[in-house]
Amino acid sequence: MSTQTRVLVTGAGGFIGSHLVKQLKSLGCWVRGVDIKCPEYDDTEADEFELLDLRRWDNCLQATRAVDEVYALAADMGGMGYISSNHAQILHNNNLIDIHTLEAARVNGVKRLMYPSSACIYPEYLQEATDVKPLKEEDAYPAQPQDAYGWQKLISERLYMHYREDFGIETRIVRFHNIFGPLGTWYGGREKAPAALCRKIAEAKLTSNPEVEIWGDGEQTRSFCYIDDCVVGIHKLMQSDYDEPLNLGQDRMVTINQLVDLIADIAGIEITKKHVPGPQGVRGRNSDNTRLRQVLGWEPEISLEEGLARTYTWIEEQVQAQLEGKSIAN
Ligand code: NAD
Repeated sequence: MSTQTRVLVTGAGGFIGSHLVKQLKSLGCWVRGVDIKCPEYDDTEADEFELLDLRRWDNCLQATRAVDEVYALAADMGGMGYISSNHAQILHNNNLIDIHTLEAARVNGVKRLMYPSSACIYPEYLQEATDVKPLKEEDAYPAQPQDAYGWQKLISERLYMHYREDFGIETRIVRFHNIFGPLGTWYGGREKAPAALCRKIAEAKLTSNPEVEIWGDGEQTRSFCYIDDCVVGIHKLMQSDYDEPLNLGQDRMVTINQLVDLIADIAGIEITKKHVPGPQGVRGRNSDNTRLRQVLGWEPEISLEEGLARTYTWIEEQVQAQLEGKSIAN
């Protein structure tokens, strides 16, 4: 009998999901990918890819059949512009997806599930200054996430925790801090800050218009983690016996203005920053990686400069193709 691990990745048409499928295939797993859309920028490497709307219970039962493990990445999500203006839809869709995916996995006898939570679960009152203290896992309570997106992630963390306690299912909960890289959404309204800024700087370069719009004063702070580190960390956590929520991100904090300068350097152009009103999220945020190092004996290794260089190169190619009116591909 084959001992190959059979894995379901939901959200496999999305950014982290499509990279995770590649990682799991390289490790020898059999992989089913599920999403409401195919990957936009690359062919999937999944053994099987099914287009299913996971808000529906029957589709979740189909998706979770005959697998050992589930990485439940599917979610209605986007950058600050999206999550600060679609609260009801995000709460509605992601609750349906998470509740049905987890219960269907239980009914189908899945042994182990990974839930992708977010730094957005941390309380707003700890993130009001730019020089914020890095967030430790236990800082999550007393809870006061800024947006419905963060509240929903926190409730699903608890759902996963109780399924572990009540039904003996192995669950893993990872809190991502701003994952970025190639093959992610870079235009259209759901893109996150690194991709949006790479696009704006590529447009500035390719159209010789040096003005780049930045939401707010650009002094808000964040840390950013490259996708290759993210998928390595996810898999390590899944293999570990650690079942409490764990941060996964870099702990090097930069301002958005600094991020813009790094990307402009990579692009090799001088830009003019134009600060405009726009959603900014919390004022400051960083990851405390103490527990990550303890639990996994590892932490993200790819520098911000290296990750941005890889991401910018890919996004500049996309912008170039768009400006030339070509269809956008990898
Ligand atoms: P993404 O938007 O690229 O991927 C999510 C995928 O879920 C999309 O392909 C989307 O089509 C799919 N999806 C949405 N609704 C669905 C439905 N009803 N049925 C089936 N599929 C559906 O986002 P991502 O950045 O790859 O994020 C993956 C997971 O990680 C999400 O749960 C997200 O909330 C979480 N997360 C990501 C980050 C980050 O920095 N990227 C940070 C924190 C948490």
